[in-house]
Amino acid sequence: MEIALNFFVPPGQHKLPPLPYDYDALEPIISSESLKIHHDILHRAYVDNLNKTELKLVELREKDDFDLISYWENQLAFNGSGHILHSIYWTNLAAPGTGGRPGSQTLNQINRYFGSFFSFQKQLSHAAEKVQGSGWAIVIWQPAWNRLEILQAEKHQNLTQWGGIPILVFDVWEHAYYLDYQNRRQEYINRLWQLINWNDVERRLLLAMRGLVPIAMENYRY
Ligand code: MN
Repeated sequence: MEIALNFFVPPGQHKLPPLPYDYDALEPIISSESLKIHHDILHRAYVDNLNKTELKLVELREKDDFDLISYWENQLAFNGSGHILHSIYWTNLAAPGTGGRPGSQTLNQINRYFGSFFSFQKQLSHAAEKVQGSGWAIVIWQPAWNRLEILQAEKHQNLTQWGGIPILVFDVWEHAYYLDYQNRRQEYINRLWQLINWNDVERRLLLAMRGLVPIAMENYRY
């Protein structure tokens, strides 16, 4: 599989990816009616609403109007994660009996962390079953620790977009600022800008563009 490292999606230009198989390909496990609604209507709605949200934010940045920023950030997270996770879900599936067996690296990483494929399968099934309300069970590669992990997501997002690699973070938990600023979070944020190590941000960006997340300090030298 060829991965383009230099593509760029401008605001509002996301496209619904076509299904990699026919609507009836997953029958009898997933009906073609269910798949058609899920992909053509529901997934499309995430793409459309993500595009709308990004274009709205272009307009709001131009107007310097951030009164409803929490609403639009929520829309970014919900629709962005919905689009990303569904795009992965479709390609994760194949017609019954055609998906092959876990690859050698997949098995190697599963055995290394979970002990056995059986343990991995049990945890993933239980995690999926016990998602509170609507959501997903998600197997991730955690580049920070060089290993797999199984996570649950409620709804799609909890204000994140799955797949994103952090390059600059602001801790706005009260513990980060309360002793110095009490309730004045905005003042703390304004001052935090003076502390940013832009060399680190640049380094993290360059590594993230190659899919890397340096976090362990022993691997992290200037
Ligand atoms: Mn869905």
